[in-house]
Amino acid sequence: MTQKFDVVVIGAGPGGYVAAIKAAQLGLKTACVEKYQGKEGKTALGGTCLNVGCIPSKALLDSSYKYHEAHEGFAIHGITAPNVTIDVKAMVARKDGIVKNLTGGVATLFKANGVTLLEGHGKLLANKQVEVTGLDGKAVVYDAENVILASGSRPVDIPPAPVDQDVIVDSTGALDFQAVPKTLGVIGAGVIGLELGSVWARLGSEVTVLEALDKFLPAADDAVAKEALKILTKQGLKIKLGARVTGSAVKKKQVTVTYTDAEGEQKQVFDKLIVAVGRRPVTTELLASDSGVTLDERGFIFVDDHCTTSVPGVYAIGDVVRGAMLAHKASEEGVMVAERIAGHKAQMNYDLIPSVIYTHPEIAWVGKTEQALKAEGVAVNVGTFPFAASGRAMAANDTAGFVKVIADAKTDRVLGVHVIGPAAAELVQQGAIGMEFGTSAEDLGMMVFSHPTMSEALHEAALAVNGGAIHIANRKKR
Ligand code: FAD
Ligand code: AMP
Repeated sequence: MTQKFDVVVIGAGPGGYVAAIKAAQLGLKTACVEKYQGKEGKTALGGTCLNVGCIPSKALLDSSYKYHEAHEGFAIHGITAPNVTIDVKAMVARKDGIVKNLTGGVATLFKANGVTLLEGHGKLLANKQVEVTGLDGKAVVYDAENVILASGSRPVDIPPAPVDQDVIVDSTGALDFQAVPKTLGVIGAGVIGLELGSVWARLGSEVTVLEALDKFLPAADDAVAKEALKILTKQGLKIKLGARVTGSAVKKKQVTVTYTDAEGEQKQVFDKLIVAVGRRPVTTELLASDSGVTLDERGFIFVDDHCTTSVPGVYAIGDVVRGAMLAHKASEEGVMVAERIAGHKAQMNYDLIPSVIYTHPEIAWVGKTEQALKAEGVAVNVGTFPFAASGRAMAANDTAGFVKVIADAKTDRVLGVHVIGPAAAELVQQGAIGMEFGTSAEDLGMMVFSHPTMSEALHEAALAVNGGAIHIANRKKR
């Protein structure tokens, strides 16, 4: 007899595994299908994020930052560390250890919550049946009352730079370099390109980022993007905007990249090339032709605001559906769907999904940019506070960047918080909490912030919205 579950989740990334745990917690008989085999040749849970995304990239960012600080940031504190070296293999092995710990942790959570793991490739058939083809090639069909598709995304390939995972790599390959490349090319100045470019630049690579667009970080607030370009350039990243890669040729372990810019065709030789031009949804072999689930015009699974697909009882979440390709967005969609299946009226606030770029300084924001609000015709008041005026930032010798708070000119409601600077991700989250509760700039300004903290920069920027900052001259008068 066909085994039946209340919920079958396909994919155990931050969307799928969180959905499965939540569904099980809500008393639903739940299974999760995962096919990914980790470095040790065993099923590894956690998806892109834990295996080859958020976590390993942050592990390398943290290691490379410590090395960079030891080299360039210690002397000002009176610390001399003349013989600092980097063992790249040890750094990468540490990263692999963290990945192993966390992916193993998800398996433990599955056991603790009673989620059944089905190892293999999942495919949605008609009538909410799921076929799982195991590693031995044998297929088993399961019945499901509800199915959650959480198959995630994979890197986009571009014909001018075919990935060989040796000289030309994607983000996964760039997490596993065994030595610091003397010269490194990065195609794409998006989040992933800037983070991975930063890792290797800190370790001594000469990094050139080639970006087809003329505008740097178009999704960020213009003031933040401008400051980020200035700071990253000063750090040694050569960011070439308006440079579209049109070809590449690998010879003797080096790659010659051809690109066009305002001056015409250019060529540059690199030891390694990272292709970081975006990610696309994974739907290969996921849906039987009669499953009834439809895709949108960009190849994502079509869903509404509640992640419901075109088939009742079938949901899709995370990178495989519209919206930001971010782990926390995937997870919260997973929670929402599990709760809705269990009969709750959960919803998600898509307007308040924070974005973070883990360069140093970090770049983070939540809500709308000043330019987007102006384009919508919304009159705003803006308050900014530079970390150069923060005692905590001075103590840490980490004074680059600023906090910018944007509020509605009529109501004072905070509509956007944008930060480039130390702990930007954490500061923006404070803004997000306030915004979720409909905070005004005045509310934030009236709160007591610990001293001395980086958070005070948020407090002061909120005060500056209405001309009331204490530790900086106010542009706007009360
Ligand atoms: P995924 O994590 O892609 O998981 C999907 C899972 O489904 C995979 O394990 C896959 O093997 C499995 N699967 C697919 N098809 C099938 C099938 N048919 N049968 C069985 N299993 C299947 N996001 C952040 O929020 N913060 C960050 O700092 C961050 N850093 C990143 C750094 C890098 C280098 C990269 C590449 C991504 C980063 N991301 C980050 C993005 C983040 O990883 C994704 O948004 C997130 O993983 C999406 O989660 P998901 O569950 O939708 O999909
Ligand atoms: P993201 O989607 O945010 O990861 O960013 C990917 C970036 O890659 C985008 O800003 C694209 O403009 C850029 N890009 C895509 N194709 C090319 C190309 N052929 N040459 C240079 N940049 C590219």
